[in-house]
Amino acid sequence: MGQQQKIVVVGSSNTDMVVRVKRFPVPGETVHGEEFSIHPGGKGANQAIAAVRLGGEVAFVARLGNDAFGHQTLENFKNEGLDIQAVALDEQLPSGVAQIMVDASGENTIVVASGANQGLLPQQLEAHAGLLEEAAFILTQLETPMETIVYLANTYGGKGKKLILNPAPACELPEAIYKNLYAIVPNEEETKFLTGIRVTNEATAVHAAAHFHQKGVQVVVITLGAAGAFLSTPDYTGSLASPEVIPVDSTAAGDTFIGAVAAGLSAGMDWVEAVTFANRAAALSVTKKGAQPSIPFLQQVREFN
Ligand code: ADP
Repeated sequence: MGQQQKIVVVGSSNTDMVVRVKRFPVPGETVHGEEFSIHPGGKGANQAIAAVRLGGEVAFVARLGNDAFGHQTLENFKNEGLDIQAVALDEQLPSGVAQIMVDASGENTIVVASGANQGLLPQQLEAHAGLLEEAAFILTQLETPMETIVYLANTYGGKGKKLILNPAPACELPEAIYKNLYAIVPNEEETKFLTGIRVTNEATAVHAAAHFHQKGVQVVVITLGAAGAFLSTPDYTGSLASPEVIPVDSTAAGDTFIGAVAAGLSAGMDWVEAVTFANRAAALSVTKKGAQPSIPFLQQVREFN
């Protein structure tokens, strides 16, 4: 493996507030909740934490509210070892929150109020241009404003080809973005949304990947849940299996996978090695409850067999 390269994650951070209820209230009704818990979340934060726990040197570009959640989250980022020089505290907008109810059958309802995540605009990236220039890989998702993604694609996409997009949650992407993406990492639903192709086997995966390649994306990785992931690069086309595990909670499996891919690549792995490593890390995350608590550390992935 070569020398460690820097990863910059540009993305969301939320505080998830979870209440367990016997059943959901109907409009106008109050029900008594059971257990209440607060967890750090947001795809950007989960992926940044996965990348740093798995050995990456990671800076996070994010926006929090200047409030109790924001301060607590910043402390959490520091403790994880993230470079937080580009995390801003917004003076107007509150920290992003997700209010989650889980009923007795395990069904959930979620309301996300993005708050300060919506204030993560190109100006914040311009203010940290040096950091982004230095990055070997830039990782982003779709929980921050589209104009920020477009700016990243236009500014850092073409030349070095180092921008990796996790198109989640799925939404329409401006066509011009694709030619500036080094890699795209959707799950099956996001693939269906963006290509119209339902991935059911190798042939449909090849077809879906071709859709992205035709638009100019160099590398396509489609995550396939328990089946692992499909990888399509100029040198390799095929599925890579995930280790078999007893699933407990798949929350943040995709985030762990993507953070692991970035960490692997930044440590000098090639794509096949990085996806194999990511399958192992993500499979491990499925064996534990929660989002960030389930993201494994490098040593655990090394010892997992
Ligand atoms: P998302 O969480 O975004 O829906 P997937 O369900 O495709 O994404 O899962 C992401 C990755 O997590 C997979 O590519 C795989 O490596 C791993 N994974 C998910 N579910 C399982 C499982 N039941 N067993 C082993 N690995 C899993």
